[in-house]
Amino acid sequence: MSDVHHDEVIVIGAGLAGLAAALHLQNQGISVQVIEAQEHVGGRVHSMRQHGSNKEAGGTYIGAGYKSVVGAAKDYGIELIDVTPTLEFFREQELVLNEKIIRQAEWPVHPANPFPKMDKSYMPWNYSRILTVRENPLKEPKDWLNPSQSHNDISLFSWMKKLGLSEEAINLAYGINVSFGNNAHDVSALLMLFRAAFSSHQRRYAKEGIIGYTALNGVQQIPIAMANALYKEPHLGKVVKSIDDDGSLEIRCADGATYRAPHVICSIPLGALRDVAIKPPLSKLQHKAIIDIPSQPTTQIFLAHKSKFWESDGLKPSMYTNGVAGMIAAARNGEDPNEVTSFTAWTMGSNAQILDKLPVDEAGKLIIQEIEKIRPSAQGQLEFLGLKSWGADPFARGGWAYFRPGQVTQLYKAIGKPHGNLHFCGEHLSIANRGMEGAMESGKQAATQILNKDITKQMNLD
Ligand SMILES: Cc1cc2nc3c(=O)[nH]c(=O)nc-3n(C[C@H](O)[C@H](O)[C@H](O)COP(=O)(O)OP(=O)(O)OC[C@H]3O[C@@H](n4cnc5c(N)ncnc54)[C@H](O)[C@@H]3O)c2cc1C
Repeated sequence: MSDVHHDEVIVIGAGLAGLAAALHLQNQGISVQVIEAQEHVGGRVHSMRQHGSNKEAGGTYIGAGYKSVVGAAKDYGIELIDVTPTLEFFREQELVLNEKIIRQAEWPVHPANPFPKMDKSYMPWNYSRILTVRENPLKEPKDWLNPSQSHNDISLFSWMKKLGLSEEAINLAYGINVSFGNNAHDVSALLMLFRAAFSSHQRRYAKEGIIGYTALNGVQQIPIAMANALYKEPHLGKVVKSIDDDGSLEIRCADGATYRAPHVICSIPLGALRDVAIKPPLSKLQHKAIIDIPSQPTTQIFLAHKSKFWESDGLKPSMYTNGVAGMIAAARNGEDPNEVTSFTAWTMGSNAQILDKLPVDEAGKLIIQEIEKIRPSAQGQLEFLGLKSWGADPFARGGWAYFRPGQVTQLYKAIGKPHGNLHFCGEHLSIANRGMEGAMESGKQAATQILNKDITKQMNLD
């Protein structure tokens, strides 16, 4: 048992990582106070009512093997919805290169297709993923951190080149509105192999044909229910500005509030952590990790449709483009998966940065113009509902962290190293899981570090 007493731990950030840490400690009989910058809990799990039928601006898809997220939904009474019937529609999208539509049936023999002969039938949006699954050396997702894999901490470009792909093929397979960086030079192959191993691992849990879920009334219901299960209500509107360790830890917030505790868990996303002064200073390497590890600019544009314009041009409603509109996905959030309920343009990397520089209405207008240029049937049929930029969000500074070539080997261990009694968690510190599940994994891990510390202390006293 632990010797931590009342208010012994402060957790900074009420996203899934912070809440998982707090509940884990509370379940061990430790009193925890969560403090959160914003006026709501959930962080990058953010469900909205105002933007049409698409309820989610952040984490949406819960894999069948997300043990912690599914477990939390079950424990705190949140109903999960099986989304398997809608997943097949994600494969149904039109490829758009330089504003020209290429039907999927034409792609294998299309002159613009640079993929090797045996792989010509793969579409550009999933070819790099196919390769990282097919050529994956990791037995388990967590093996990405095994030193025996450090030779794969090279750019995805170099890794794909070794497979014999041409530069043109690599740029098309990983260079269009991508999830990490802007092109295959920007991201470590090791991260991509971890992601692929995690997805494959998840598929093993797809029992009874259920591949994944989302939550009834929005995924944010899960962190809300987790926060409600805390004995001490999270303190909202507490923007942490500094953390000082002078024997016990002192946290100062922008509104003047001060918190003290012998142990602190900090779940602030890496990009936002740059704004927090930490004393005594972190080691050079840990500081470098916080400054250098990038977060992906991610901006979503929410659109409503006035008519089923796709029925008049006979094309699929969703499109994957190499233009600024990125991936334009038809949402299917009604009872019937065949029914398109709204659209979301997912823009990432440089596309998101272009939009982030514009006034919100101009960004919406630009995306609608892009879609109308590609398919005239959409002319006058789309309405801009709103936008969410994670890059511009001061409490996220990006959708998710990613590793540049070499950074896994050089910096991963340093990012989450406890600094005295200050512990770190967050999706960027997951070891074996990704996304929401990774965030919860990291929170439990930070809580365990504190529990182990105190157990050790007690054992010494005994
Ligand atoms: C667009 C998008 C789509 C996604 N889709 C999926 C998906 O389908 N499936 C999936 O599994 N994952 C998905 N993810 C990833 C998933 O949402 C995140 O990995 C996870 O929610 C991160 O949790 P976290 O607790 O680490 O960070 P966060 O949720 O960001 O929590 C950190 C908290 O710290 C607070 N904070 C920040 N700065 C301060 C400060 N100075 N003082 C006090 N508090 C502060 C923030 O307000 C926030 O509440 C998606 C993410 C995005 C952005």
